[in-house]
Amino acid sequence: MDFDLFVIGGGSAGVRCARIAAGHGARVGIAEQRFWGGTCVNIGCVPKKFMVFAAEYGMSAEDARGFGWDIARGAHHWPQLIAAKDKEIARLNEIYLRLLNQAGAQIFEAKARFIDAHTLDVGGERITAERIVVATGGHPVRPDIPGAELSIVSDDAFYLPALPKRVAIIGGGYIGVEFAGIFAGLGAETHLIYRQPLPLRGFDEDIRLGLADALQANGVVLHRDTTPESIAAEGEEKALALSDLSVLGTDLVFFATGRVPNVTGLGLEAAGIKVAENGAIAVNEDLATSVPHIYAIGDVTDRLNLTPVATAEGHAVADSLFGNRPRKVSLANVPTAVFSIPPIATVGITEAEAPQGARVFVTRFTPMRHNISGRPRKTLMKLIADATTDKILGIHMLGEDAPEIIQGLAVAMTAGATKADFDRTIGIHPTAAEEFVTLRTQTRIVGDEIAGA
Ligand SMILES: Cc1cc2nc3c(=O)[nH]c(=O)nc-3n(C[C@H](O)[C@H](O)[C@H](O)COP(=O)(O)OP(=O)(O)OC[C@H]3O[C@@H](n4cnc5c(N)ncnc54)[C@H](O)[C@@H]3O)c2cc1C
Repeated sequence: MDFDLFVIGGGSAGVRCARIAAGHGARVGIAEQRFWGGTCVNIGCVPKKFMVFAAEYGMSAEDARGFGWDIARGAHHWPQLIAAKDKEIARLNEIYLRLLNQAGAQIFEAKARFIDAHTLDVGGERITAERIVVATGGHPVRPDIPGAELSIVSDDAFYLPALPKRVAIIGGGYIGVEFAGIFAGLGAETHLIYRQPLPLRGFDEDIRLGLADALQANGVVLHRDTTPESIAAEGEEKALALSDLSVLGTDLVFFATGRVPNVTGLGLEAAGIKVAENGAIAVNEDLATSVPHIYAIGDVTDRLNLTPVATAEGHAVADSLFGNRPRKVSLANVPTAVFSIPPIATVGITEAEAPQGARVFVTRFTPMRHNISGRPRKTLMKLIADATTDKILGIHMLGEDAPEIIQGLAVAMTAGATKADFDRTIGIHPTAAEEFVTLRTQTRIVGDEIAGA
């Protein structure tokens, strides 16, 4: 065999797996067909957060006036932002490549596909490997409606030549919500269209309600319980017909309606690898596919599509196979963030998922900064504690710095912290975070409202 391990895909999952396995002394090859670092670095988390920063700076300029700064919010130069972002990403691409080279992995800048369970075609070259890891990620999809080809998806949003004046984003998931914050913050007339009563299905109800208010406070026009019917081009403008029979004139229609695994053309059937209906590769708890020496990690398995999960899986597979350190990745209590403006972060279960009797503590307040800036913005925090064990079951926050705060609290929760542990922790003052350790008054008990209804 040419390699002990061959990794298909140089994204978060694949690069980590190849690098660690090569570090353990395995003969490793890795193929990437497009860009090193994959979705996260090039068209996901990283550029997205730069664009969120850009939108927030405009708001900070407005807020500064309350603090005595004689500054006005000037014009934003979109091409300058995109060029700065591209420069930083090129630097990150280089780092990824260098890490792989330093670890001793052999690099192939080509598309790979299975010929059989041990043989790959990599850019026309036949390559054999003892073990193979599929880490091909996913891509966004558009709904099948007339005129869908006139729209963009998140991949395109990072390379628009100019900031559109009017944007219609379809989809109330985290990508839709984040881009609504970006476009509105940079000054575009922004509409968010989603088929649920509230954005961010699956998140805690109070957070969803708070987010809907925050989006509106930022000037985003919300179209709840609404789906798109068709798009027609009218000169430069797009006419977006909606299920409520209205027609929205806009410059850009942006579908943020979901992602599917990258499996087309991979030749999975030639290797005998089983996939679900949407293409997701089925894996067991060791991340092995239906073919025991072939593994799948990251978004291509479509379970919890987050970069830290993808890297943790890549690392675990490499350690298990070549590091003499077999281990599994737990998907329980994975903290997540939504980089809306303001952001959201959460770990553990929602109130709707909490067992009967669980104690719920909620606080909602104007962050200190905005008592002076005058910006109408609220922070919301919620703790859910088990009635019998007192263990913290869920922590939720909508507000500035939420992802930074919840990352620390996730450690406490993973370690099994109780509400009493939170109560005996001394706060850091003056912060928003200290509210999490001073939540004394119980807001409600899960199930009580139903009993009283
Ligand atoms: C807009 C957006 C924002 C996001 N924001 C966040 C965030 O804030 N936080 C977070 O944790 N996650 C975020 N994510 C999710 C995160 O990007 C993914 O979970 C992560 O990138 C998954 O890594 P992966 O390695 O599984 O796949 P990818 O990063 O997609 O990498 C797969 C790679 O495989 C390559 N490939 C595919 N097929 C082949 C082939 N046949 N041969 C060779 N190469 C191939 C692709 O070119 C790609 O580079 C975001 C995603 C998007 C789209």
